[in-house]
Amino acid sequence: MLGFLLARMGVDAAVLEKHADFFRDFRGDTIHPSTLEIMYELGILDEFLKQPHQEVRQLSGQIGTETVTIADFTHLPTHCKFVGLMPQWDFLNFITAQAKPYPGFHLRMQCEVTDLIEENETIAGVRARTATGELEVRADLTVGADGRHSVVRERAGLPVLSLGAPMDVLWMRLSRHETDPGQTFGRFDAGRILVLINREDYWQIAYVIPKGTAEELRGRGLAPFRAEIVRLEPFLQDRVAELSDWDEQIKLLTVVVDRLQQWSRAGLLCIGDAAHAMSPIGGVGINLAIQDAVATANILGEKLRQGPVTAADLQAVQRRRTFPTRATQRVQLLVQNNVIKRLLSGSKPISPPWIVKLLGRWPWLRRIPARVVGMGFRPEHVKTPEMPN
Ligand SMILES: Cc1cc2nc3c(=O)[nH]c(=O)nc-3n(C[C@H](O)[C@H](O)[C@H](O)COP(=O)(O)OP(=O)(O)OC[C@H]3O[C@@H](n4cnc5c(N)ncnc54)[C@H](O)[C@@H]3O)c2cc1C
Repeated sequence: MLGFLLARMGVDAAVLEKHADFFRDFRGDTIHPSTLEIMYELGILDEFLKQPHQEVRQLSGQIGTETVTIADFTHLPTHCKFVGLMPQWDFLNFITAQAKPYPGFHLRMQCEVTDLIEENETIAGVRARTATGELEVRADLTVGADGRHSVVRERAGLPVLSLGAPMDVLWMRLSRHETDPGQTFGRFDAGRILVLINREDYWQIAYVIPKGTAEELRGRGLAPFRAEIVRLEPFLQDRVAELSDWDEQIKLLTVVVDRLQQWSRAGLLCIGDAAHAMSPIGGVGINLAIQDAVATANILGEKLRQGPVTAADLQAVQRRRTFPTRATQRVQLLVQNNVIKRLLSGSKPISPPWIVKLLGRWPWLRRIPARVVGMGFRPEHVKTPEMPN
């Protein structure tokens, strides 16, 4: 997204991606109203909405035996009053297609950054491994947007503040039938959380487990695991046998929550999960990463057209994005520690907590979580111009 925004305003941007394509099990499929608003501001929303996707206007879940609605997006002051669900490879392919016409956009796939080039205590670019050998890419600014296991931030020696997470996620698919329920939903029960994402012909399933227990679960074998899924969602009984190979079909997605205390060094900036790894709670990490990209382009874009940026310019990005990052992580930690942890360690039947019951009684209250999840704290707006090609 940052590569697209910079190229759009006439800055030369090289995007290096270690994989050959985007077709992998990414973490997260949610495109929130704040991101859709950015698409609108970029003039690509109509095109985007032509891509296959689902629209979620209310977030519901089953807690114990009660079905509850937690968030209602239909009152947000945005053009799209829903969360769009789209596999992340489709989203990234779409953004790439939008960026490619700009001559400044250079996407290099199968190009894995392995190290930083440092000259006079300034980061001057990266070293990368490609299918045809080693590559050096020099730049006025290097941006680490390489996710929670960022090589860039590690090589830059930026100190990480780890905030901890009580869970990991098992990620798998089961086929979807015409007669199945249509909406995307979560099922919360003592010791278990199951989230089903409707991807038309199949269900993308997230099974939340206490951190570090994946191996133990795997050791017990597929039969008890399948039985557990059916216990939570009985309608999956007729197809749960599709899960026949743990290694091939069930992926472990580890959850990490952390943030850098310092996002930049001379010549280098980290954004997205590389600056602040997000928990899946609220499904906001992708959107926060995109907001970082928009803020970075807004603050640095014009200066980058002239040449290198200063340490103060880079710190301005961190200053702008620290509040939304901290506030979002604080909410995520509150939910992780007070709800998820208790739920995963409990064995007694559960019922919705009082705060969720309030949301059931007064539907207008559902606009508050919708705002926090759908728009986030301090939403960014595109302020960078499009330069003629
Ligand atoms: C289980 C789980 C579920 C989640 N669900 C959601 C959700 O539903 N919605 C949501 O918004 N957020 C969700 N999140 C959070 C979300 O995944 C992240 O916050 C978001 O993906 C961060 O985006 P990013 O671009 O910074 O990093 P990433 O999405 O991790 O992208 C980093 C990219 O850099 C590439 N890369 C990595 N290393 C190198 C290298 N050395 N050289 C070149 N390229 C490299 C990777 O291949 C990847 O393409 C979830 C997180 C977890 C753990």
